[in-house]
Amino acid sequence: MSKAVLVVDMINEFVTGRFGSPRAEKIVPNVARLCELARSHGAPVFYVRDAHLPSDPELRVWGRHAMRGTRSSEIVGALAPGEGEAVFEKRQYSGFHNTGLEAALRNSGVDGIYFAGISTDICVQHNVADAFYRGFSCFVVRQCVESIDARSKATAIKYMERMYGSKTVELEKVKF
Ligand code: ZN
Repeated sequence: MSKAVLVVDMINEFVTGRFGSPRAEKIVPNVARLCELARSHGAPVFYVRDAHLPSDPELRVWGRHAMRGTRSSEIVGALAPGEGEAVFEKRQYSGFHNTGLEAALRNSGVDGIYFAGISTDICVQHNVADAFYRGFSCFVVRQCVESIDARSKATAIKYMERMYGSKTVELEKVKF
């Protein structure tokens, strides 16, 4: 199996901004390690990030957040993408809609995805669902995802295992 990393929404808004949390900040070094591990094996690293327009339906639920072109929507400095790594702007929880993500994964020969990012129970979960429906094997790296509290994270991890057959893996056990 050829695997990639998909980093979900590790942006200023959700790490240190209005929707940020110490829990989110804590996984930054772990996500950095995962990305470095991928690069050292020549495996691709992809990013999706919220970049909203005022008309996006999600804003009705959460209010304005991570608006396109703002600093809030940018990936945190410590996880800045490497040269040539692709960042896909998304306008909903999942990065598989109206972006080039799926084609990029397929063109890279990827059939398995290690997931990192926030929130486990929102955007990570929706990305895992869409990856599952497109035939990718999904691996959620436990130390590289977070939610607003431990219960939300644990519930989402269980749900993804049950519904999408995702495997939950420890960062130490990740292999490319
Ligand atoms: Zn959003």
